[in-house]
Amino acid sequence: MKQALLAARDRLRGQAGLTLLEHEPLAPHTSFGIGGPADLLLIPHEIPALLAAQRLLADFESPPVYLGLGTNVLISDAGIRGVVIKVAQGLVGLAVDGPVLTAAAGESLQAVCHLAADAGLAGLEFAGGIPGTMGGAVLMNAGAHGGEMAQVVEWAEVALDGELQRFDREALQFGYRQSLLRSRSGAVVRAAVRLVPGSPEVTHQRLYEILERRCARQPVTQRSAGCIFKRPPGDFAGRLVEAAGCKGLRLGDAAISTKHANFIVNLGNASAREVLALIETVRERVYDQFGVSLETEVCWLGESDGV
Ligand SMILES: Cc1cc2nc3c(=O)[nH]c(=O)nc-3n(C[C@H](O)[C@H](O)[C@H](O)COP(=O)(O)OP(=O)(O)OC[C@H]3O[C@@H](n4cnc5c(N)ncnc54)[C@H](O)[C@@H]3O)c2cc1C
Repeated sequence: MKQALLAARDRLRGQAGLTLLEHEPLAPHTSFGIGGPADLLLIPHEIPALLAAQRLLADFESPPVYLGLGTNVLISDAGIRGVVIKVAQGLVGLAVDGPVLTAAAGESLQAVCHLAADAGLAGLEFAGGIPGTMGGAVLMNAGAHGGEMAQVVEWAEVALDGELQRFDREALQFGYRQSLLRSRSGAVVRAAVRLVPGSPEVTHQRLYEILERRCARQPVTQRSAGCIFKRPPGDFAGRLVEAAGCKGLRLGDAAISTKHANFIVNLGNASAREVLALIETVRERVYDQFGVSLETEVCWLGESDGV
């Protein structure tokens, strides 16, 4: 570890409300099961501890990398030099006030969906079965079945340079799997969604149906990071990958799912290098056959020469 990082570690050790892990392998913190170690992994258990960590790291050369439940990331085999802050696990808490449901960023999106249904609130059913945290869902503008977070998010509270800032929906500049926050080095710590009244039975039933559909179509029992490519205009990435003859294509332990061609699955000990090579092969084949440049949806975390 570099001198500056050792000094940062020593400062962070004294901070209450933080779990600090050194040389922590990141693969177990992801749904893909891929990724080398982080020099330091911090898990804040309360918002003030996260703010304090940001302030202690303010003069550090590279900003911290944030992680939710790691369901949309591909992490380098070399891991991440510097500090990773995992928002999942520590920052939890849910509250309902009329039609507005507020969730801490580390809450699982599924817990949010089910609390909404229990509370007689509808409008989040599109998110049934999307893994990950509330924070990750806001940052990525997660969506499915014609719905996306942008339709329901009222505001998000973000820890930026040791201070809390509230962004309303407009300011978050949502786009397709995009938000302003993807280009800012801050952590979503809390967000609120505005929903509409709905019968708990009907809403739970709808969540269940959407989950069933997902299980029938996607390789949900295998390790993956969700859809690898974004939807190209007027088409579907999975259709193009399949039509290019890539379904089932395998490189080491990384394979294009035989169930859904827009998923790469880790069959055992896949490396990030294998996944990247498979992505490149698929891109080339799709481009050569259909003239479409597929863009990756999965977030690369590590050195900048990745996806
Ligand atoms: C089987 C499967 C199915 C999926 N289906 C869908 C789907 O239908 N629709 C869809 O949109 N997605 C889908 N995904 C992808 C993924 O679940 C979502 O993007 C999810 O919202 C990511 O949340 P996360 O907490 O896991 O984020 P992570 O994967 O941990 O992080 C994703 C990005 O957000 C950043 N980040 C995470 N949390 C924070 C935070 N609190 N503050 C600042 N930055 C943060 C990370 O740095 C990273 O850049 C699927 C994934 C899997 C494995």
